[in-house]
Amino acid sequence: MMRTVNTGYYLSKSRGSKNLLLRIIAILCRFGITHKKFQRSLQRYAAVTRNGGSVPTFAITAVVLKRNPELIRELNRQGIEFAVHGYIHTDYRPIPLEEQVRHFKNAIDIFNGCQVSFTGFRAPFLRINGRTPKVLGSLGFLYDSSHILCWDVLDSTQYPKQAWHEYSRLLDFYMPLKAEEYLTLPKFINGFVEIPVSIPDDEAIIDRLGITDEKEISKIWLDILQRTYNRGELFTVQLHPERISFCENALSDILEQAKRLNPSVWVATLREITEWWREREKFTLEIDSRSDRKYYVKAACSERATILLKNCEADAPSTEWANGYRSIIARDFTLESPVRPVIGVSSDSSPAAVKFLRTEGFVVEQSDQPDHYGLYLDDLTRFEEADEKPLSEKVEQSEAPLLRYWRWPDQARSALSITGDIDSMTIADFALRIFENWRQSRR
Ligand SMILES: [Zn+2]
Repeated sequence: MMRTVNTGYYLSKSRGSKNLLLRIIAILCRFGITHKKFQRSLQRYAAVTRNGGSVPTFAITAVVLKRNPELIRELNRQGIEFAVHGYIHTDYRPIPLEEQVRHFKNAIDIFNGCQVSFTGFRAPFLRINGRTPKVLGSLGFLYDSSHILCWDVLDSTQYPKQAWHEYSRLLDFYMPLKAEEYLTLPKFINGFVEIPVSIPDDEAIIDRLGITDEKEISKIWLDILQRTYNRGELFTVQLHPERISFCENALSDILEQAKRLNPSVWVATLREITEWWREREKFTLEIDSRSDRKYYVKAACSERATILLKNCEADAPSTEWANGYRSIIARDFTLESPVRPVIGVSSDSSPAAVKFLRTEGFVVEQSDQPDHYGLYLDDLTRFEEADEKPLSEKVEQSEAPLLRYWRWPDQARSALSITGDIDSMTIADFALRIFENWRQSRR
């Protein structure tokens, strides 16, 4: 198998050769000789997000940053967040670890040299391999956002056969997980945070399915927003700045809708999500039995932590939240409950299952006395990532008294992050991308 292959190969592999020509025409229209055209797209993007009360995260390829440092540094100064999108725009999945280290170190040097701050990484083509997070963590990156979750929000009968075929080819290339089967939530991988990105993204919608009607794009993303909201999960939008003219209204529609929802949607950058996930991991809940049916609760957490309870009563004020939960601001309070508001699991439960339930904010006790718990689970000996969503749903359906930390801060029900990759800013960047991949393939 070839170690790396050039951009033209990827374009044709995931698109078909006929589309390659259309793609080249689109590139010529989207980029200019200088970065002025791209600058206007970035400013437009920044204005839409600013008006919607959010800050985007742009993942930029290091060599592209090196060729256009002033503009990016200025946007960074204005508060826009940047992440590393590879040293060059290549597929890192087949690249050996030592070579990945060399690339990522070069990228770090370029970001530092250009005085552009970063904390995270997103892979070109959203393709990494199983060992990439470890490499990134060892180099000081705090997060990666390359895992893809695909939402089933499109009806294939609505699109021309060829367009649907192009879209399917993209999915084959990305190999996303299905959002119907997995939780779209950040995840710790050995202390390193992985933040999933949602598709269909702008490329799938516009370049593959040929949708340019802004209302239709809005409809697709509003649908994903609503689904992530109902599920209490995260919608990471992927919108490349060069397609902002097609997606401007869709972007402002989702930001407006996010503002309308109550409980709220937390709109955050990828760095803020990472920091929150790390902060939240340290929270603890102590639940001591006082007397019959009375439990004293002490929550050690930051002010913005969201504490939820259901099917039990607190002696401090609480407000109705969602899914049968009430939200409580107090950190020390007494609960009245027929049983301890914790989840009991059998002693043979998989450590991964226990860890998952704790990550979900619950207090979990391993015990062989089911009677002591409102919710007792004894079928967790084997547990994999695909079991997370069904387990989460099972807990939600339970009528047992439960106390937990919620996933998001400040009583938010779900989260939304606006991100976009900067692969090229000029026609020269695009041409050089092909050359850089060719040179990489010869190493
Ligand atoms: Zn890219």
